[in-house]
Amino acid sequence: MAYTFKHGDRPLEGLTVQRAVGRGGFGEVYYAVADSGKQVALKYLRENPEIELRGIAHVMNLKSPYLITIYDVKRNEAGEPFVIMEYVSGPSLREMMLAEGNGMPAEKVAFLLKGIAKGLSYLHERGIVHRDLKPANIFYDDGYVKIGDYGLSKHMSVSKHSGQTVSVGTVHYMAPEIGSGSYTKAIDIYALGVILYEMLTGRLPFSGSSMGEVLMRHLRDDPDLSGVSRPFAQVIAKALAKDPNDRYQDAEEMLAAVMESADISAGMASFDASALTQVPRVQDAADPDQTVTSPAPRPPVPPTLDVHEQPESKTFQFIQNARANVGKASAPLPTHVQRKLDRFAHKLDHKAAKLERRFGRRGGWKKRHAAADNKPRINRKPQIFVLLTVTVMIALVLSLLAGGGGDDIAPRTVALAMLIGGGTVGSLLVHLRFLRRSPIRKSLFDRLAYASISLLFMLPVIGIADEINEHELAAIIVAPLAVLVLCNWGRRIEQGRTGKVDGWAAFWPAVIGAIAAGFAGAEEFIWIAAGVCAAMSLMTQAAAAMWPLPRGAGVPAS
Ligand code: ATP
Ligand code: MG
Repeated sequence: MAYTFKHGDRPLEGLTVQRAVGRGGFGEVYYAVADSGKQVALKYLRENPEIELRGIAHVMNLKSPYLITIYDVKRNEAGEPFVIMEYVSGPSLREMMLAEGNGMPAEKVAFLLKGIAKGLSYLHERGIVHRDLKPANIFYDDGYVKIGDYGLSKHMSVSKHSGQTVSVGTVHYMAPEIGSGSYTKAIDIYALGVILYEMLTGRLPFSGSSMGEVLMRHLRDDPDLSGVSRPFAQVIAKALAKDPNDRYQDAEEMLAAVMESADISAGMASFDASALTQVPRVQDAADPDQTVTSPAPRPPVPPTLDVHEQPESKTFQFIQNARANVGKASAPLPTHVQRKLDRFAHKLDHKAAKLERRFGRRGGWKKRHAAADNKPRINRKPQIFVLLTVTVMIALVLSLLAGGGGDDIAPRTVALAMLIGGGTVGSLLVHLRFLRRSPIRKSLFDRLAYASISLLFMLPVIGIADEINEHELAAIIVAPLAVLVLCNWGRRIEQGRTGKVDGWAAFWPAVIGAIAAGFAGAEEFIWIAAGVCAAMSLMTQAAAAMWPLPRGAGVPAS
């Protein structure tokens, strides 16, 4: 899928995109440069999850060289959130692992573990649980191992994702107790245990062909530590304990257990980290074995730090059911039972996906979105009724001004209302559905888009004109089209969204409409064309007010 922004785009005031860096489950990451010259990473939350900004200051003001600094979270004029953060030019741990193949040497693992443990301890000391610790969120840059995306998942509601395919690569790093709603720092220790295993062996401790299978293995299986040397094997076993109380109580304790080995700490001290920067960065570094995709949403996000809660997603109810079925027994099952169980889990995933696809978008779709957005639903019906009435009234007045036979008044009124309404509906549709994300509203492409979609709504006018034998009426269709191409319609719409209907903004459409109609040979209908175009400008602005701009967002300069 193509990236939303390209080189040179300015999705936020003061920031120019240089190139896309990669994408994850929530959005797209870009390398961008601020007008001041500062390089930043810009994360566009493409799926537009609602970010709960209250409490985000917890993670915005952290200062540690072991963390990727978050500079700000901003919204564009469409209200979509962007995270502006420190740009890391070095590789991610995922990329380091890809470059290494079958596991890293012990001293490199110890060096990386130390950096991750420092960053994680910093977060835990401040009561923040990462919740999404995984190799794609860990980087090496300028002498430091840095953790990114910390605590952000807590601030994003993903309920809007239901029915869509969401990357759930994270499932490989998910502690078993997450199924029962526990989000303590023990889940990060567990994820660190998985990462440690992966760094050493190049494999995941628990993989499978479906999300259900992986989750089940987290609940029930012990990792295969046969090829893992001391002291790592013991450390991994403890970090991956099923019971969070049996794990290391903090990351420093886990690091200290590794460093107890004189060989490892001596090897780490002499490790030359500069070679790490040579690892190539890979766009969309996705490992098929790493990422299972499933339509099931991620676990619902609890509102507070480090607490126990009850998620309601199907996946987690599934884990709970699985837990009830499997009980506390962790002894391996006979192979044929195991295979059946895996197949069942796989089927369950598919069924859940199918059901969500079929029923997930029904009726409740809008309600769910409104609830997820936490926005009041706007009832636009009364406004639409008023706008339609006004449009028909204007069309009737213009139709009467055109004179002629009484029989023609009604069809002519319909035709003129269609021109005004077509330009209004067509341009708003294009703008709100597609172009408002585009920072270059004045481009010829945008103008042609307004005109061509509006034309579709206006085409019946030609048939009506033919019917009543008024060919000059058909000719004035070029007037609103010329106006949509020549006037800055995007700016009018954005202004309308602030609640302002500017009478003067109707002046140039009237002039251009009259000239265009003159060229098209509309003769007696020239002034009618001017009226249609002026009305189209006013009605577009009035209708745009039904989709108000988010508070604080400005209208782009013309
Ligand atoms: P998730 O959505 O669960 O975080 P992810 O970490 O794979 O999954 P993103 O965080 O969206 O996805 O990042 C996409 C890619 O962009 C990453 O794989 C990483 O290589 C790159 N990236 C992310 N943050 C930065 C950054 N601050 N500097 C440089 N590259 C980054
Ligand atoms: Mg990430």
